[in-house]
This record gives sequence, structure tokens and C-alpha cells, in this order.
Amino acid sequence: MLKINDLTAHYGAAQALFGINLQIGKGETIALVGANGAGKSTLLKCLMGLTKPSRGHIRLNDKDVTNTNPAQMVRLGLALSPEGREVFGHLSVMENLQLGAIPLKLSKAETSKRKEEVFGYFPKLLERQEQLAGTLSGGEQQMLAMGRALMAKPTLLLLDEPSLGLAPLITDEIFAIIHQLARSGTTILLVEQNAARALSASDKAYLLANGKIIEQGKSSRLLNDPILRSAFLGATCDADPAASRLGAAGLTNIRLEKPNMQQQNFMPAFKNEDELKAHQLTGLQWTVRHTYEGSAEYRKKLDQANITPETIQTLDDLQKLPFTTAEDLRDGYPFPLRSVPFEQIVRVHASSGTTGKRKVLCYTQKDLDDWTDFFARCYQMAGVTPLDRVQVAVGYGVWTAGMGFQLGCEKVGAIAVPAGPGNIDMQIQFLLDFQSTVFCSTASMALLMAEEIHKRGVADKIAIKKIIYGSERSSRSMRQKISELFGGAELFDITGLTELYGPGTGIECSEHDCIHYWGDYYLLEILDPETLQPVVEGDWGEMVVTTLCKEGAPLIRYRTRDITRAIPGRCHCGSILPRHSRIKGRSDDTIKFRGVNIYPSSIDTILSAVPGIGSEYQIHLTRDHASRDHMRLVVERAEKVDAKRSPELSHEVSHQIKKQLLVSVDLELVDYASLPRSEKKSQRVFDNRIQDEIV
Ligand code: ZN
Repeated sequence: MLKINDLTAHYGAAQALFGINLQIGKGETIALVGANGAGKSTLLKCLMGLTKPSRGHIRLNDKDVTNTNPAQMVRLGLALSPEGREVFGHLSVMENLQLGAIPLKLSKAETSKRKEEVFGYFPKLLERQEQLAGTLSGGEQQMLAMGRALMAKPTLLLLDEPSLGLAPLITDEIFAIIHQLARSGTTILLVEQNAARALSASDKAYLLANGKIIEQGKSSRLLNDPILRSAFLGATCDADPAASRLGAAGLTNIRLEKPNMQQQNFMPAFKNEDELKAHQLTGLQWTVRHTYEGSAEYRKKLDQANITPETIQTLDDLQKLPFTTAEDLRDGYPFPLRSVPFEQIVRVHASSGTTGKRKVLCYTQKDLDDWTDFFARCYQMAGVTPLDRVQVAVGYGVWTAGMGFQLGCEKVGAIAVPAGPGNIDMQIQFLLDFQSTVFCSTASMALLMAEEIHKRGVADKIAIKKIIYGSERSSRSMRQKISELFGGAELFDITGLTELYGPGTGIECSEHDCIHYWGDYYLLEILDPETLQPVVEGDWGEMVVTTLCKEGAPLIRYRTRDITRAIPGRCHCGSILPRHSRIKGRSDDTIKFRGVNIYPSSIDTILSAVPGIGSEYQIHLTRDHASRDHMRLVVERAEKVDAKRSPELSHEVSHQIKKQLLVSVDLELVDYASLPRSEKKSQRVFDNRIQDEIV
């Protein structure tokens, strides 16, 4: 459509453009990127006939239009939305728009039709049509300048610095409209100082510096070019003359914005299960060799089991490997399972030491990078984008939680609000003031926040769309309640454990009926916790993990004690990544009661199914003089459920527990919100029986 050939221009004696060649095809959005004074505006002025080029040609639809006057250019289909808007401040919005159509001498009917179209793109202008343009905000003036240009129904729209001086949110809005115009078929030449923004919004781009085109090509390529990125960031790059050239050319003051989510993908590239399996075998072989050569503890274990790195020929050979347990971690304190020299270790994390010593894990830089990448994958699976604001209300410090949520969030390019746990007043204030869109916490903390939001009546003033919670079991009724009180937020259960990097080793997908786990980073086995043999596929058992590329402290058949089950087949969400059920409990917090093994989650399930029952409860276990065990279950009624209904509800819950778990319990119903809440994991099981079997 537009072809610029060898265009050269001078300002007085100074040369502003040096033999520019540039082409725009019909329907394309082309970005012309450069710093202040690079020559962008001169080029636009030449195009509009406002400046006479000293050499070269401009052809529009194969017609030479060099030196055509501005009014004629408008009639030929060019319209300019100038830098600094240049709206007429003493005229109304309506009058400014009319000015845009003057060179075309349109009928009244056609003029009002075009105004309607412009208002379609910019509803704000419709609201302000009688207002004087001088009283509009910067963003509204930009809209008016673009609207005025659109009045000419241009075949080529020239936008000069549309984001200049605008707040980021307004810039988002302006660029959304530019996208919309491009989609409707308008050909656009976008002239911008804001390189990343312009590159994200365009098909092709030209980089202009000191009056010369120094780089051109597909915008997606330029945006991802490491040399250009470093140049945009202003990083000096002695090793790379090209980058230095760009830096010297004055491109270094171009702002780099956050990456476009469309250009980021944290999902694995495997096309099918076979490719994944091949990757897993390579990873398993690497891990066995790495631990055999790098760790005395592992070598001893492997030797005892008669394993050498050569033993691993297929994925089934995994079952020949010895187990690793929490005891191994404690025995090896302070640097258990370390398989690389200290020179390669860049960080340690530790889990809270509830029993005995803390479990300490060390990380190489690659371990941290991997963790960051797959945590970003968690966010991607939950639909979090760079436009989100993620309030991270989990613990920061030596434990892994906060760090993981933070790294992943920054990788995605979203805004992290590292609030840490607790401090409900501050959390609520951040939700209101920062308009956080994603909230990360434990399930108990989410429930606590949900109730507080409800109590303060601010549900309609917060912007939370997604809640990512983990490290704790949650019942269906608890999930429902959290979602409801947060104004309909979508919940995502995230998994992870310190031994296996930290949180983020898997997450619930948009189908909400499974956890996808990262089978390209670790192998998952589901074993019977008693016999340590694989369970029938689909049965519940203990999750045992083997890492595939973890360097600092790799895991071989690590017994997590988490109870789950594998879900065979592909998910409806389309992800190839394998799945397991939500964690049902821990094999070591199973309640043994009168010969019956009870997972606390089965109590969750039963209570969730009884209407009128709340989501908080406590289990108290005691033993009488005759050595008989008793279970007292204290359950809250749901909010606004009358105490008069207690006998009826009591009866129903006892009946269901007897029917489903085959045990009798003493039931006590209490008022809604009378049981303690905690932002950490709420303690729900109180085992007061004499632990004589331990002695
Ligand atoms: Zn899925």
C-alpha cells in the first residue's frame, strides 16, 4: 500500500533522514520505533506533506505522492493522530471531531454517521461530547486525537506516540483500541518510543536511530531478540558490537515493558506420552548417575541395593531403586542428599521442623531456574497473565512458599504483592487499594479472609478473580464458601513440598477435577504405604517422587506421605501433563480408631454433603479407663442456621459417619464462627489418647 524509497530530509543544514526505505501492506500494523530525535516525526511529516523531502519517493497504492499537500493526503486516505494530541482546547469534543472531516467536505448525514462510528470505538468521547477538549484528561485527549483522525476514515492511520505521557492503565486502554482498529482492517503506522509496547502491538517493525533504519523485521522476532532486548534495557554489551551499536545509536532510553503472555509458554513441548516417557528415562538415568557420583549417602544406598548407573535401562527399572525418606533428610542434617560441591550451591531452604531437626534442601542456580519456570507454568495453567496483580499471602523466609510464588509471578510478568501471611487488616487494605486480582495462601487463610471480606461488606470493592491455595487439605464446602465470599473467585489447589523444590510442582486446571503434575521434572509413583508395592491404577496410595533434573539435592523414590491417586487418560483441558487427585491427607495423619483407618478428608467429604453444616470442625480423640477409644466431633453449624436445628443435624451427621466410616462418634454442634481460625494450617485433629503403643 505504502512504499517509501530512499527518503532523505533536512532541517535547515542538518540532515534528519538518511535514505529511508519502508513498506506497509494493506491491513498491516507497522511499528516505527526509535528514541527521541531519531527522526520518527520527520518521517511522518514527510508522509503527510508537511515537510519536503530532499530526495526519494513516497508511493501510495502505486501512485507517486511525494510532495503532495496535507489536505490532499487526507483525501488520498492518510490521517495523522499527532504527537502531543494537538486537540483544540477551546473547542468541544464534537467540534474537534468535525475538524477531522473538513478536508473531505462530507455531507451532514455522513459526518454524523462517522461520529457514531468514532463513539463506537471511544464511548468516553460520547459521554464528554459537549465538554471543552482542554478540560479532558491526557488519555481522553489522546482518544480525541485518534477519533479526529478516524473521522477521515483513513486507509492508512498514522499514530504518533499515542502512549506518550499517559499512565500505564490508560496506555493499556489506548493500545486495546489500536488492537481493535487493526482487527477491523485499518492499516496502521504506529510511531512509538515505547519499543516493547509497539512491538507487541504490531506485525512488523522498523527501528530508527539517528535518521537511519538500523533493524527491521517481524515484531515478534525483534521483541525476543536477546541483543535487542539488552539494547532496549540499556545494558552495555562489549562482547556484542551489534548491541553496542544500538546503544550508541540512542536506543537505550527506550522503555522495556513486560513480556506479552502470548510470547511466553511454560508448558512442555512434548507432543505425546511417548516423547514424555523418553524424556523421563533420560532424566532418570541422569539422576541415578548424578547421585551415584555426587553423593556419598546415595552411593551407599545404591551400592546396598546393587544398583549402578547402568542398571537403569527402562522406566520400569525405577522400581529397583531404594526409597528415600524424611529420616534420610534428618540423618544427613545440615546438608542431606547434597550431590554437588558447595561451590555450585546458591541457596538453602528448610521446612518447619515439627519433629526433630528441620529438613534442609540445597539448590543450584539451575534448580532455582527450573523451579521458577514450572511455577510460572502453574500461573499459566490458572490463567494468570502479566496484567494480574498477585497478592502472595504465604510465608517468606527460610521456607520455600513465598519465594516460589514470588519467582513464578515475576517470571510471568505479573505484579507481585509480597504481603506474607497473617495481618488481615493489611491484606484487606491491599486487596482494596492495589485491586489485587489473584490471592495466594493456605486454604485456612483463604477462608479466614473470605469471612472477613464478608463481615466488612467489601466483596464488591475487591477485584480478586482467582485464589491459588495449597499446603493443606480443603473440603468441597470450604472451597464453595471461599469462592462465594470472595465474590465468585475461581479456586486453584496448588501442590508441592520443600523436598521437591517447594510449592508449585502441580496445580488444578480449569476443569477443576484434578491436579496436573510436572511429569517432565519428576516421576510419580502411587504405592501402598504398608507394602510399598504399586497400587492398582486409580487406587489411593502414597505419593512417591523421583526427580529428573534436580542437581543440589535430588530425590530418588522419596516417600512424601501424601495420599493421592493417579488419574489415567488425558484431561479435557487439553494438557498432556499427567494428573493425580487432590491430596487426600497424609499417610502419617491417618487416624487409627477402633481398628479403622480414617483419613481426615473423609470427614470433610461427609460434612460437605450435609446442608446446614459449616466447614470448620475438630476431632478430639480420647481413651477411657477401659482402654476404649472415643471420638468427639465438634462441628459448626453453617452461617445463619438456627440452633434449633442442632438435634436434627446432629442426627444426620452421626448417621452418615456411622454409615460411611463404620464408627460411632459423639457429636457436638456449635455456633457458626465459634471454632478458632488460623491463617496457617488449622489444627483439626486433637489426639489425646495415651500413646502407649510408642513405648
Ligand atoms: Zn486439565
